[in-house]
Amino acid sequence: MPPIKLHDKHFEIYLSEAEIQQKVKEIADKINNDYQDLNPLFISILNGSFMFAADLFKHLTIDSEICFIKLASYKGMKSSGHIITAIGLDQDLYNRNVIIIEDIVDTGKTLDVFLPKLHHQQPASLKIAALLHKPEATEKQITIDYLGFSIPNKFVVGYGLDYDGLGRNLKEIYQLTDEA
Ligand code: 5GP
Repeated sequence: MPPIKLHDKHFEIYLSEAEIQQKVKEIADKINNDYQDLNPLFISILNGSFMFAADLFKHLTIDSEICFIKLASYKGMKSSGHIITAIGLDQDLYNRNVIIIEDIVDTGKTLDVFLPKLHHQQPASLKIAALLHKPEATEKQITIDYLGFSIPNKFVVGYGLDYDGLGRNLKEIYQLTDEA
């Protein structure tokens, strides 16, 4: 695939559509195997994970449910920490087998703040499926139970991920090039 330009930046192909689709199918196969008769509840974190969530869900053959949430992040007035609220999380997680669907785990800060909120509702189990992980960017250690690809610490777009709004529609994943 040829390089692309979004706004002012250039990107080159990093993962092809076939590589992504193959990996998504592998993850779905594992989940089908691990969650038989458990009716897992998937929580897809918008916006970036919508495409991964849709493709993954299509490959599931077990009973399963899905909901979509948005995380809003703001600085607390008194605390120096990050506060995250989940918009659209109206399901009761008590005793459910929950699987978070994330597009990418970068520093790990988002999930580090969000996961304890979910644990608070006492799900039977709580696992994470992430398409991409940047190990070199890790600030908060997050265990990813179902991982697509470990990638270098470079900005990526495509397959749901954007650069300033653009690029989500791409079937492939592209990496920022070094050229200006
Ligand atoms: P974390 O809290 O793990 O640092 O950040 C996770 C979120 O940051 C992801 O869900 C995603 O929205 C955004 N993000 C991190 N790295 C990238 C990247 O390379 N490209 C894009 N488009 N978004 C990213």
